[in-house]
Amino acid sequence: MMDTPLQQINQTSRDCGTCNACCTALSISSIGKEAGVHCHNLCTAGCVVYDERPEPCKGFTCLWLADNNNLFDQFDHRPDRLGVMFYPSQQSSNTITAHELRPDALQNEQAKIITNFLSQFFPIDIKAHKKSAQQPPNLSDAA
Ligand code: SF4
Ligand code: SF4
Repeated sequence: MMDTPLQQINQTSRDCGTCNACCTALSISSIGKEAGVHCHNLCTAGCVVYDERPEPCKGFTCLWLADNNNLFDQFDHRPDRLGVMFYPSQQSSNTITAHELRPDALQNEQAKIITNFLSQFFPIDIKAHKKSAQQPPNLSDAA
């Protein structure tokens, strides 16, 4: 039986590569970083304080990075390419957040397929991009 995404979360066989989506999208209170703002520690080569990065950074793993069973495509579903970052919700460990990184990225067919698939296992907390023109997909349509 295939593991559900949360069961895979500690099994990292991929690396982030050139993605740094979480370093912009998330808030990190210990360094005064607001959500949606490029982290001041981020340069073109990556995090300049990587070895001493804050605990929330060390502990964060998006579902693409954790995916050992290829629920997410190897490359095109990486958050910076898909425009949506999926991760366990900070409010509820049994909820998945679908965080839209670009306007209307949740309307992308691949993003809809992943969102609907995950919604069969977990409540989905959708964080729509503030410039999105369209409503997030209707999860009640999920099988
Ligand atoms: S969003 Fe995922 S793949 Fe991208 S840098 Fe963060 S943990 Fe790595
Ligand atoms: S401190 Fe480093 S790892 Fe953490 S958000 Fe900033 S650039 Fe990313």
